[in-house]
Amino acid sequence: MPITFLTKIFGSRNDRLLKTYRKTIAQINALEPQYEKLDDAQLTAKTQEFKDRITAGETLDALLAEAFAVVREGSKRAMKMRHFDVQLLGGMSLHNGKISEMGTGEGKTLTSTLPVYLNALTGNGVHVVTVNDYLASRDARWMGKLYEFLGMTVGINLPAMSREEKQAAYRCDITYGTNNEYGFDYLRDNMVYEVSDRVQRGLNFAIIDEVDSILIDEARTPLIISGQAEDHTAMYIAMNTVAPELTKQEGEADPRTGEGVIKPGDFTLDEKTQQVFLTEQGHENAERILSNLGLIPEGSTLYDPANITLVHHLYAALRASHLYHRDQHYVVQDGESGGKEIVIVDEFTGRLMSGRRWSDGLHQAVEAKEGVQIQAENQTLASITFQNYFRLYAKLAGMTGTANTEAFEFSEIYGLETTIIPPNRVSMREDQLDRVYKTTREKYEAAIKDIRECHERGQPVLVGTTSIENSEIIDQLLIKEKLPHQVLNAKQHAREADIVAQAGKPGMITIATNMAGRGTDIVLGGNVEKIIEALQADDSMDDIAREKEATRLRAEWAKEHEQVKTLGGLRIIATERHESRRIDNQLRGRSGRQGDNGSSRFYLSLDDPLMRIFAGERVKSIMDRLKMPDGEAIEAGIVSRSIESAQRKVESRNFDTRKQLLEYDDVANDQRKVIYQQRNDIMDAASLTGQIASLREGCFTDLTRQYVPVESVEEQWDIAGLEKVLREEWLIDLPLAKDIESASAMTDEDILEKVIAAAHAVFADKLAQIGEENFVQFERMVLLQSIDTHWREHLSALDYLRKGIHLRGYAQKQPKQEYKREAFELFGQLLDSAKNEVTKTLMTVRIQSSEELTQAAEAIENRGERIANVTYTAPTETGEEEVRIEEETQRGLKPLTAEQMQRTGRNDPCPCGSGKKFKQCHGKLK
Ligand code: ADP
Ligand code: MG
Repeated sequence: MPITFLTKIFGSRNDRLLKTYRKTIAQINALEPQYEKLDDAQLTAKTQEFKDRITAGETLDALLAEAFAVVREGSKRAMKMRHFDVQLLGGMSLHNGKISEMGTGEGKTLTSTLPVYLNALTGNGVHVVTVNDYLASRDARWMGKLYEFLGMTVGINLPAMSREEKQAAYRCDITYGTNNEYGFDYLRDNMVYEVSDRVQRGLNFAIIDEVDSILIDEARTPLIISGQAEDHTAMYIAMNTVAPELTKQEGEADPRTGEGVIKPGDFTLDEKTQQVFLTEQGHENAERILSNLGLIPEGSTLYDPANITLVHHLYAALRASHLYHRDQHYVVQDGESGGKEIVIVDEFTGRLMSGRRWSDGLHQAVEAKEGVQIQAENQTLASITFQNYFRLYAKLAGMTGTANTEAFEFSEIYGLETTIIPPNRVSMREDQLDRVYKTTREKYEAAIKDIRECHERGQPVLVGTTSIENSEIIDQLLIKEKLPHQVLNAKQHAREADIVAQAGKPGMITIATNMAGRGTDIVLGGNVEKIIEALQADDSMDDIAREKEATRLRAEWAKEHEQVKTLGGLRIIATERHESRRIDNQLRGRSGRQGDNGSSRFYLSLDDPLMRIFAGERVKSIMDRLKMPDGEAIEAGIVSRSIESAQRKVESRNFDTRKQLLEYDDVANDQRKVIYQQRNDIMDAASLTGQIASLREGCFTDLTRQYVPVESVEEQWDIAGLEKVLREEWLIDLPLAKDIESASAMTDEDILEKVIAAAHAVFADKLAQIGEENFVQFERMVLLQSIDTHWREHLSALDYLRKGIHLRGYAQKQPKQEYKREAFELFGQLLDSAKNEVTKTLMTVRIQSSEELTQAAEAIENRGERIANVTYTAPTETGEEEVRIEEETQRGLKPLTAEQMQRTGRNDPCPCGSGKKFKQCHGKLK
């Protein structure tokens, strides 16, 4: 059989690995007598010694035996626990960047201290990843005793923390936190505008506890930060009144003669490229109108640094009112929310493109023009999958009780090998065969009967369910039967951990969904040490009384512990199989810890979804063949096996889904890396002159090539067009035509060189006036903001593309290939637009003083960081989406209707009832 053959190979690889690890264990054990003789200070001093040796070039691998021996000795002193040999095995596998499979109660928390300490010696930080905040805090405090004893610092990273607190947590040698929080911090660090605002300091080594939950169950949903970038509603509405006041010029002026204008006006239109250019007269008029409206100070120009966004809005309004026509480019329709909305019409097919929006503020400008509610767009600001986040670490490791069934996925997707660590003491749990009934009713009756018998005997039972609905059904049934019990459904992690800790007391019945009380093992007879710990806080007792009480409690526990053991240990009862064998194994693994006895049984019926869909027919035919009477269950190896094969089918389907998600995300991931790298370079660079010069060169090359193609001759050139665009759009006066006339022979290359040289010269002039050192922060902010806005629009575009791409299937195209190709193209456009926008802003901005520049830079930074309704979407522990909303609204203002926004005069009281003038409240221009 191929399967046993494979297991043999896999098994023998595991054995071989363990064998080499065991040699190191011998070394560690040999060090013990020596380290026992050291006093506390000498032991602690080892930490510094190790650090020095690393600085001197020694490798972590070379230090492993000594470091592990020091941790074990420290643990004996600080925690009264001595690492078992199997924990040393687990620790080595973690250090080697693998997954250690160790059952519940094997002490994975303590195991991880070994590689955590060793790797923290480099000073580069080690992240321990837990499934919830409760476990992060618990484990950090619990293991913190050991780390601090050895002279290491430990931090906890929690969602509610301030930036400073987070920075402090990340600066520690060791940091504990959840996967969500690490991921969100990473994303947020790539949204800041100042290096000092980052909280993380590199991703060095992560150990993920319950690694299967995090890298498999939760990997179905990405982390998403979304929100509304600045609300410009009032600005769009104001600009909408400006646009109609400007008139279109008829005819084009010939740059050589200045003739050709039929009727002078404020702007010209280029229908082909859908662009608007303001004429000189247009600039003056626009400045006058805007200053009358109070939008710009009198005497200021459109090119002042403070007015950058204003120009942007003005152009959007002009395009909306003169280039985009109702019922041709868009329609106005009833929207889902009741009000009207703008829907784009595809220019080629005439189809309505619901949900899609124009970028660069155009959509909002059209909304303002049509008097439709201006939608404050909720944009994805940043997003990443866990797969791609955790692949960023230089080294990754994980631990769980149940990795083996998913070993293939771990290795395929994360390159993580699974090591099966033998238990400290072999479990004595008996896993009984499934019992399958014909109907749900019979199934529940049988399960309840079993629970009742356990309870009457005094044997503790854990009833496992895969959903809250199912646990409610059992809860109701037990209430009806008057059987005392407790229900946990993973809502209050801390309290449930306490309850689960006592779930092994005689006669206890505990219903729990698979996540409840996670990370806490069930001790037969209950967890007496937890109760004794609580005694320490009781002030009504003195030390002697406490000691006496503790002794009494321990004696009582020993009796109950023995009692539960004779009754068969913890019994696990379940009324459904999960889609994944791994989750069933997690449940079973709750019983039989550290050599305990115990048992487990699944009660199923032909009506269970998994049975109905995958295994029902087969099991039913077995039942029929065996001529089973009603009310009786079938219990046979062949049934359990066919259920297992059904689970395998579902598992592999789910694996495919995750792989798909990843394949799509890989495209965005590569692009995200490029963008984040650029952002980091921009933030870290002392000077941006070189970077900006190369953007400028690219930008003017593209521009020139539109008029003077590569390897073309003079007859093909549109020099007049090039001169016009340089002058009107870029404020560069370059007499190209004259140059060509006077020069003997000019090639297209010569023209290009001239244009670039002129652009460089204009910029150099500006720098010389204001001083490069004054300019750099402004450049930085312009670059960052441009990258950010374009990246966000790109994310929406990708999203839109992914949703629509399956339709391409009809055209016989490979959707994934198509997606990749288009995503690549869109990314190219993103880089181009950012390049052009940045160059334009920096070339055309007019600066009077360095203070003005500083203010403009600050304004951009504030704008960049002012994001409303920040929403964090993360998977819940069951892998579904969960949404966490950070702030209600940015300014706490209730939105007004489009009508209210349009009708209210700037000096009228604001309709929101704030008592302020409209212009100081909702009408405030930003
Ligand atoms: P896991 O995460 O593997 O299920 P935990 O880390 O929660 O297990 O540990 C389970 C229990 O075992 C804890 O109460 C812990 O104190 C205890 N334990 C772990 N390792 C040792 C050890 N080497 N000696 C004594 N007790 C240990
Ligand atoms: Mg644990």
